[in-house]
Formats: sequence, structure tokens, C-alpha cells
Amino acid sequence: MQILIYTVLLLGVMGFATGLGLSIAAKKFEVKEDPRIEEIVKVLPGANCGMCGYPGCSAYAHAIVEKGAVHNLCVPGKKVGVSAKIDEIMKEK
Ligand code: SF4
Repeated sequence: MQILIYTVLLLGVMGFATGLGLSIAAKKFEVKEDPRIEEIVKVLPGANCGMCGYPGCSAYAHAIVEKGAVHNLCVPGKKVGVSAKIDEIMKEK
């Protein structure tokens, strides 16, 4: 019975230490991303079709914010005015 208690205690301590270490590492190595990328991803259709020349909507949003890609490359989004929404997001900040 005593071995069972020690085993449970040891596993509990190891689990807590691992969780604490992962939490600290997540904070320390956190990558800050421009919030406009997430906003642009939300207004894009999300079809991930690649017609804009990027491998998906997220890659296109990154290219707009980080590389200054033009705002009207999303073919499926043209009907719903995505480029105007992207213009607004890029003007805001
Ligand atoms: S064309 Fe539009 S829907 Fe297709 S991957 Fe590019 S941003 Fe996404």
C-alpha cells in the first residue's frame, strides 16, 4: 500500500513540475503576432483555395501585413468586398 502512495505522489509531483516548466517555456518563447493578421484572416473567405497566389488565407494575411502584399488578390472575396475590409484594417493601426 505504501508503494502505491509513493507512486501516486511521485507522479503528481512530476506532472506538476512538467506543467510548470511548460507554462514557463510557453511564456518565455511566446511569439508576438501583429493582431491585424488575425483580423484579416477573419474577413477572408477561409476557402484556402490558393487563387491569391499564397498557400492559404493565413499565408495571404501574413503577406499583407508583413510584406505589403496588395489587398485585392482574393478572388472569392471580391464579391463580398474583402479588399475594402482589408484596407480598413490596415488603415486602423
Ligand atoms: S484566394 Fe482568398 S480564399 Fe483563396 S486562399 Fe487566397 S485569401 Fe483564401
